[in-house]
Amino acid sequence: MSDQMTRITLARRPEGTPVPEDFGLETGPLPEVADGEMLVAVEVFSLDPYMRGRMNAVKSYAAATEIGDTMTAQGVGRVLVSKAEGFAEGDMVMGTTGWASHAVLKATEALKWDNGLPPSTALGVLGMPGFTAWTGLREYGRPKAGETLVIAAATGPVGAMVGQLAKAAGLRTVAVAGGADKCALAREKFGFDAAVDHRAYDDASSLRKALAEACPDGVDIYWENVGGKVLEAVIPLMNDHGRVPICGTIAWYSGVDGDTDRLPMVWRSMLTKRLSVNGFIIFDHWGGYRDFLTEVAPKVASGEITYLEDVTEGLENAPEAFISMLSGGNMGKTLVRLA
Ligand code: NDP
Repeated sequence: MSDQMTRITLARRPEGTPVPEDFGLETGPLPEVADGEMLVAVEVFSLDPYMRGRMNAVKSYAAATEIGDTMTAQGVGRVLVSKAEGFAEGDMVMGTTGWASHAVLKATEALKWDNGLPPSTALGVLGMPGFTAWTGLREYGRPKAGETLVIAAATGPVGAMVGQLAKAAGLRTVAVAGGADKCALAREKFGFDAAVDHRAYDDASSLRKALAEACPDGVDIYWENVGGKVLEAVIPLMNDHGRVPICGTIAWYSGVDGDTDRLPMVWRSMLTKRLSVNGFIIFDHWGGYRDFLTEVAPKVASGEITYLEDVTEGLENAPEAFISMLSGGNMGKTLVRLA
């Protein structure tokens, strides 16, 4: 067993889109393990859009990552040393590992992954993103058969799960995705009824025309993943009493450019169309995670719910993979596998 731990740190706060120099690579001794804790050798960790927000020094729903701290992430790995009741050497566990080769997890914050499904699924289709989709759609989307749902970042882990659950509930599902390949993936793998390439349209009004064709009966649920041009395009297409679960606004995570003047128009539509607009953060809903696993894990095991992973090999390549994912370079759930 190596007695060294390698980790990716926040070297400085990004200005706009992150660049590789914003990250550091550090090696040091393995951390100590206290009672109630375990040392884990990380096998795979997750790269998620929310991590961009943690790089800023602003108060949000979670504390910012400090300069020099390990970048935050959920990961899965094998227990090397356990001083925690119920966890033994060799167990596969999920927890907040960070972008690192090793992590010390508290027993109270770790979940044993022993359901026979690949450990990577604990980070995507059966992890935080899949759970976000399942929770948000039920609680805030409130889908009804025959309605139309639109979602962008449709081939990512949140979008793919929302699309499949909505389709199974009898909705017309319309994907917004970046590029022809992702649009084909949305239709062919994730079962969307139609897919619109947001990169093919320079402005919101031309994108809106394409979406209007894809949504002949209007839009009942706009699952907000991205903000920006897509938001502006969709809101005027909403039907009365439509629902807008606000899950993410990735188009604005590295800053807002130029389109804030359109906000009043969007906001007014919220009023005139009497929309239900709910911001939500999945960390408030963790109590339902086991119910989610009970319902969805068998569907993943049987193939009824499908998923796609985009795996980068090597801790040192995590920053490039993260930067690429933020601008749509990923095909499926972004993961980093350690050698
Ligand atoms: P993805 O794996 O789908 O990756 C992000 C995708 O966003 C990119 O691949 C790209 O897809 C799309 N994107 C990036 N910039 C733009 C843009 N300017 N316009 C349109 N699309 C863009 O991410 P996830 O499935 O993990 O997450 C999706 C959203 O859900 C994010 O906003 C995330 O922050 C949010 N989220 C919120 C949670 C909560 O608790 N509220 C929990 C989990 C996720 P494409 O190439 O198709 O455009």
